[in-house]
Amino acid sequence: MRIQILPSQVIDQIAAGEVVDRPAHMVKELVENSLDAGAKKLQIEYWEGGRRVKVTDDGCGLSKDELSLALERFATSKIQVAEDLWKLSTFGFRGEALASLAAVSRLTLVSRQPGDSAASQLISDFGKRSSVESVGGAPGTSILVERLFENIPARLKFLKSESAEHTQIRQTLKALALSRPDVEFHLHENGRLLAFYPKASGYRERAEQVLEMAPLYEGFAQRENFRAQAIFAAPSQIAKTSRQIWLFAQGRWIQDRGMQAAVLEAYRNLLMHGEFPIAAVWLECDPADIDVNIHPTKSQVKFRDPSLAFRAVQGSLRTRLEEAPWVPRTASPQAKEPVSGSVGAELEGLSPVHFALTAENLKFDDAAFGVTVSRKKDFDLVREPVDVVWPKLENMAPFQKASASETIAATTAGTVSAFWSSLEVLGQAKLTYILCQNSQGLVLVDQHAAHERVVFERLMIAWKGGKIDIQEFLFPVAVSLSADLVEALALATDDLARLGVSLEILGPQTVGVRAGPSLLKDSVYSSVLEKMAKEMSERGGSFSFEKIVGDLCATMACHSVVRAGQALSTEQMKNLLREMDEFPLSSFCPHGRPVSVEMPWSTLEKQFGRIP
Ligand code: ADP
Ligand code: MG
Repeated sequence: MRIQILPSQVIDQIAAGEVVDRPAHMVKELVENSLDAGAKKLQIEYWEGGRRVKVTDDGCGLSKDELSLALERFATSKIQVAEDLWKLSTFGFRGEALASLAAVSRLTLVSRQPGDSAASQLISDFGKRSSVESVGGAPGTSILVERLFENIPARLKFLKSESAEHTQIRQTLKALALSRPDVEFHLHENGRLLAFYPKASGYRERAEQVLEMAPLYEGFAQRENFRAQAIFAAPSQIAKTSRQIWLFAQGRWIQDRGMQAAVLEAYRNLLMHGEFPIAAVWLECDPADIDVNIHPTKSQVKFRDPSLAFRAVQGSLRTRLEEAPWVPRTASPQAKEPVSGSVGAELEGLSPVHFALTAENLKFDDAAFGVTVSRKKDFDLVREPVDVVWPKLENMAPFQKASASETIAATTAGTVSAFWSSLEVLGQAKLTYILCQNSQGLVLVDQHAAHERVVFERLMIAWKGGKIDIQEFLFPVAVSLSADLVEALALATDDLARLGVSLEILGPQTVGVRAGPSLLKDSVYSSVLEKMAKEMSERGGSFSFEKIVGDLCATMACHSVVRAGQALSTEQMKNLLREMDEFPLSSFCPHGRPVSVEMPWSTLEKQFGRIP
C-alpha cells in the first residue's frame, strides 16, 4: 500500500479513541469546557450509560462564526504558543475534544454570548455539519451528544453495562465538583435529579456535599513550592477501595501513584489491611514544576520533583491526623465540669430495670463484646484491685526517659491534650475494657489497644534514636523465603542493621538472623522478614525505612503488651490513660482498631426513657 495522509474524518475517530474512550471521559471534557468558559452554574444530564449526555452552562458562550471552528481539530481559544503549555490556567488546551466527539456522535452545539440577542446552533451528524442557525436560548452554551460511538461498533462493544458506565460518570462528576467549590452543579441521571451542589465556601464544604459526610477535617502542608490542602474523614470512616482517595493537582483531578502512596503513608498504622481512607488532597505548585501534557485525557501529570509533591501531600494529612481532631476534647482543664457521683449511683435511681449495651449499639466491631448493665451489683466494675504484674517493660526502661523529653519536643504544646487522663476511671469491664466517665458520657477504653499504642510510640521513638535493646543469637534463626525475597533482603542488610536486625544469607532461599531487637520473638521473624522483603522489592525508596520501622514496632508492640483478660488495678489503668496523653494519634491502635468507644449520656438517657 502506498503511504497517504489519512482523511480528517479518520484522524478524528482515532483521536476520539484516546480523548473520549469512555462516556465518563466525554462528560469530563464537556464539563471542563464549561468551567473554562467561566460558568458559575452547570447542569449535567446523562442517559443510556452516557451514550446520551447534555451539558448546559452559563459561561461566556461562542459567537455565531466560532461555532464551526470549535468543532475543528486543534482549534482552541486557550493557548496560542508552545510556552503557554507551561502557564496553563484552563483545563483544556489540546483543542481535540469537540472535534473527536463531533466525529463519533450526533452533537448539537447551541451557544449565545451574553451581548447577543439570540443563540446559534450547529449540528454535527457523525462529522457531517449542518449550517449555523439562529435559535432561542439563554446566554451560555449547551452541548448535547447523542448516539455516541454508533458509527464505531467495535468501540461500542467496549462499553460496560449502563450501570457501570453511570457509576464511572458519577465518580467523574464528583471529582469535577470537588475541583470547583465555587460552581453550582445540578446532576441528573436518567431524567432524575441525582445531586445538587450549591456554591460552597471552600473545599471542605464542597467535600461535605459531595462525599455526603460531616464533619470532615482539614490539613495543610507546604514543602518548598508545593502546597497541599487535605480534607478527610476520621479514620473510623473507611472505604474498602481506593476510590475515595481524591487527588488534584493545579485543580485537575488526576490519578497519581506517588500522591496516592503519600496519602496511604500518612495513614500508616491507622488503618487495617484492606482499608482505605476517605480523603481529598489538592496540590498546588508553580506551573513550571508540573507537566500536565503527558496524557491525552490529562488524567496524569509529571512533577519536576515528585518527592516534594509526596512530602507535601503526606504532611497535609499526617500533621492533622496526629492531632486526632475527631477525638472530643474538653476545651480547657478549668472549663471541665466536675462529674458528680458515679455511674453506679446514677443507675440506682433508674426505673427501667435494665438495658443491654450490646455490641451493636456500642458500634463495636468485636461482636464477642456484650456487657450487660443492669444494676450496680451486676456491674463488673468495682472489683478489688488484683495483684498483677504490669507487663514487663524493663526492656524499655533505658529509653523511657528519652521518650518523655523527645515526645515533648516532638509534640507542639497545645496539641498535647489531657483527654485521656481527664477521664474518671470507674473500673474494669470483662477484664478487657477500662470503663470511664466524663461530663459527656461513658467511655470504654480497650486496654490492649491502648497499651499497644503507647508501646508502639515508645518503640518508634527509641528506634529512631538508636536506643533499641538488641539480642544476639548463639545460632542464627533460619528463615526460608523465596529466592527473589532473599535477594531483596540481601540488598538491604545495611538498612536492616540500622533497625537492629543483623542478617546473613545462608543460601539462595534462606536467611539467618544473627541478632534482633529483644522485644521481637524468634517466631515472628519469618513473617516480619517476608513482609519487609516484599515491601522492598515492590517499592524501595526513602519512605520504606520508616514504614518498616512502623510495621516492626506495631508487631513488637502487639506482642509485648497487656492482653485482654488481664486484671488491672485502678492505679495501672490511670497510668495507662496518662501515658496515652503523651502521644498524638492515640485514639487508634497501631493496627487501626479504635482504642475507645463512647456512649454519650444523652444516648443513655434516651434509652432509659429519661429524655424523648
Ligand atoms: P480545548 O478545550 O482543548 O480548547 P475543545 O475541543 O474542548 O478544546 O474545545 C474547543 C474550543 O471550543 C475551546 O477552546 C473553546 O473556545 C470552545 N468551547 C468549547 N466548549 C465551550 C463552552 N461550553 N463554552 C464556551 N466555549 C466553548
Ligand atoms: Mg476542552
